[in-house]
Amino acid sequence: MKAESTPLTPALSRGEREESAELPTYTRWPVTLARGKGSTVWDEAGKAYLDLYGGHAVAATGHCHPEVARAIAEQAKTLLFYSNVVAMRVRTRAAEAIAGRAPAPLSKVFFVNSGTEANENAMRLARRVTGRSNILSMHGGFHGRTADAISAAGLQKYRDLARPNVPGHRFVSFGDLAAAERALDGSVAAVLLEPIQSMAGVMTAPGSYFEGLRRLCDERGAKLIYDEVQTGFGRTGTFYFSGRHGVVPDLVTLAKGIASGVPMGAVLVSEEIAATVKPEEYGTTFGGGPLACAAAEATARVIDEEGLLEKVQAGSKRLREGLEKITAVRRVRGEGYLLGVVLDRPGKPVREVLLAKGFLVGGSDLPEVLRLLPPLVLTGGEIDRFLAAFAEVV
Ligand code: PLP
Repeated sequence: MKAESTPLTPALSRGEREESAELPTYTRWPVTLARGKGSTVWDEAGKAYLDLYGGHAVAATGHCHPEVARAIAEQAKTLLFYSNVVAMRVRTRAAEAIAGRAPAPLSKVFFVNSGTEANENAMRLARRVTGRSNILSMHGGFHGRTADAISAAGLQKYRDLARPNVPGHRFVSFGDLAAAERALDGSVAAVLLEPIQSMAGVMTAPGSYFEGLRRLCDERGAKLIYDEVQTGFGRTGTFYFSGRHGVVPDLVTLAKGIASGVPMGAVLVSEEIAATVKPEEYGTTFGGGPLACAAAEATARVIDEEGLLEKVQAGSKRLREGLEKITAVRRVRGEGYLLGVVLDRPGKPVREVLLAKGFLVGGSDLPEVLRLLPPLVLTGGEIDRFLAAFAEVV
């Protein structure tokens, strides 16, 4: 007898079936994007949105920057991929672009594919070099969703999503140096922190805190890891947060805007740590692939050539001053284009009305804090347009 084939979801149209084939991992905004240019994205109906979210801090040079798109297209036509068993000029140039902009002694780059993978490897490097197993992280921190990185999440709801957690993670309050001093005993391999805690609602700490952490790590033989997945590559108005306040960590993790949207992560390490790594101990198939490296090299070049660090500093001032004049805004936290807008009311309805008006902004772990993570190419005119809309909405 002939078996009858029954479609799994017979009532769905083709478009609906495509959507239903995706695991629903995120709560989606009610918009289907089709294209982007600079700081603007357009939906399928042609409606424009000014993007102050940057695809979650990824669109560093803006959407489809012509130089980045050209570098990607040329590389795709030349050599789309080869693994780390061969040398490639484009990978060497990308590593130089990343390490060459970092303060000494940060000098060597291990390419991976995402922020979480960068943090996994940074913790592993620190454990191996110190021979210790524990990691000290900060309440409120977020470092990714793979096993070790999510176990280092200071936001407990993420740790709870990934039970059982990797053992050996301990937490103290961000900004509390005395607590770090108490927790940093001889079992701690590394202190891991976001220098500006983004997801937690854009929390900052004074320079003395970072100086204190550096001193404690040096005194007690632990390594200092900055998770610069968000703060790196110009977002806070300097190329890296590392080096500020005279503090240079031993390891820096990067991702998000590093290749303007082509998936890439990196661990930037000091000479001392680099000297302990032997071939075959660390690896990844796709990390350091030529396509991502071409995009990263072009991203770094565009940041320099277009003076984007200065533009971020000026734009951030303009945004902050404009927002602080709006009565519904209690205060603005953060630096550069990593800003948290603390409202006198829940942020979600504000975000929804802004979206309907054609402006994309992010939320945070705190209901009353909206996050602005725009492309570094955002212009003064665009900032003014956003400020006018924001004032009207609140
Ligand atoms: N670290 C920080 C500070 C992040 O904000 C994120 C992602 O939001 C990650 C790490 C994880 O990066 P990825 O999603 O690329 O794994």
